Amino acid sequence: MIPVRGFSGHKVAVLGLGRSGLTAARALVAGGATPVLWDDNPDARERAEAEGFTCADLTREGAFDGIAALIVSPGIPHLYPSPNPVVRRALEAGVPVDNDIGLFFRSIATPDWESLDTVPRVIAVTGSNGKSTTAALIDHILREAGRPVQLAGNIGRGVLDLDPPGEGGVVVLELSSYQTELARALTPDVAVFTNLTPDHLDRHAGMGGYFAAKRRLFSEGGPERAVIGVDETEGLFLANQLAEGSGDDRVIRVSSGRKLSGPGWHVFARKGFLSEYRKARQVGSIDLRAIKGLPGPHNHQNACAAYAATRALGLSPKVIEAGMHSYPGLPHRSQLVAEAGGVAYVNDSKATNVDSAVKALQAFDRVRWICGGLEKEGGLEALNAGSGSVAKAYVIGREAAAFAMKLRVEAEVCTTMARAVERAMEEAQPGETVLLAPAAASFDQYDNFEKRGEDFMAELRKRLG
Ligand code: ADP
Repeated sequence: MIPVRGFSGHKVAVLGLGRSGLTAARALVAGGATPVLWDDNPDARERAEAEGFTCADLTREGAFDGIAALIVSPGIPHLYPSPNPVVRRALEAGVPVDNDIGLFFRSIATPDWESLDTVPRVIAVTGSNGKSTTAALIDHILREAGRPVQLAGNIGRGVLDLDPPGEGGVVVLELSSYQTELARALTPDVAVFTNLTPDHLDRHAGMGGYFAAKRRLFSEGGPERAVIGVDETEGLFLANQLAEGSGDDRVIRVSSGRKLSGPGWHVFARKGFLSEYRKARQVGSIDLRAIKGLPGPHNHQNACAAYAATRALGLSPKVIEAGMHSYPGLPHRSQLVAEAGGVAYVNDSKATNVDSAVKALQAFDRVRWICGGLEKEGGLEALNAGSGSVAKAYVIGREAAAFAMKLRVEAEVCTTMARAVERAMEEAQPGETVLLAPAAASFDQYDNFEKRGEDFMAELRKRLG
């Protein structure tokens, strides 16, 4: 636990009593503050009260009298599509609105760091896709290299739940736009921006708001090193804005597909090979095709970002390469779950938006594609970029027929996962891949993408034994 600093003797309100809210409340108590909790859901309040916390209705008039700050959980939309009433009360009362990430950055450094030889470092990863993979890969490479490392944020533990890092410790954070948007302190030593494609547009009132939320990670004073994916214009813009000039090596530019040149620090992947250039000279290279846990150009982008971040901490290319080879992959992301009769079965249930599904499709040659679910903003038009490898689509979801109509490939309306798996298996030929990459959210049929991926695997097990 990281005790929250700066609120000793003060009351701090906490809105939303899921994992991060309750952890924040405990960390506030550990730092000498008195948390006042609220959640619209009575069950959540009951659980908090059973743990000894005080709940109070933060929507009522005067609720913020004597409160020093409001801590909001990432699951709660604070401003868009419509302002949250509790957040509005805090704003009207002039009470600072923050989240657990802001508390973490204001609390992580302690006076005893002065006696350490190597002070702890924080690496934070954001972007539309590849955050979890990149963060988990950085964590794995550092762990294999013998560094004391902890993984937290959107993946792993809640940030305030971490053990205070000691000598040479590294904290790797995966941060979503919901988290970066609200945090009042965001001061990682190394910050990573993987890529940017439309997602969560209602929460951020459009693409500009979404980009603005993510780039906050690079604004508050600026990290020592910024690792920026420059395959979209937004990334190029951000890299350009952060660098003093083209040779400024506080910015490490990353690309999957393009050779980057110039006097600065560049890491890029082309045709399956990673290259690192510094001051226009090649200083490292890795054959990514040999790395099983990171298939496809999208994972090569993640590999480049993780390489750059760990290079920024001083690891050698050889040590990083060894770490990549033993990376086991994450469940529901390009996860090879079975091979039978020459057909590979891959679970990429985490491909919840169009861009990530295209990336998943491009990683394989001939695909029996299970897709569908709750469609996101922006439409399905962009899926065409991945349709070249699709032999046929098997569409799931409550609106499967409408979804299928919008695809430009042969599509069969299956509605349920059971039917989709059955039909894809019947028709798959040796050499093909049956791929779950939905390009949609799961909430019309499942609690979350993990449940959807587990259902896919259970249906496979029923048939493959
Ligand atoms: P995030 O945490 O940002 O959602 P993940 O690493 O969990 O990212 O990957 C989510 C999905 O996005 C994966 O299922 C994969 O299909 C796709 N993906 C992974 N890395 C990338 C990338 N660099 N670019 C585009 N899509 C990606």
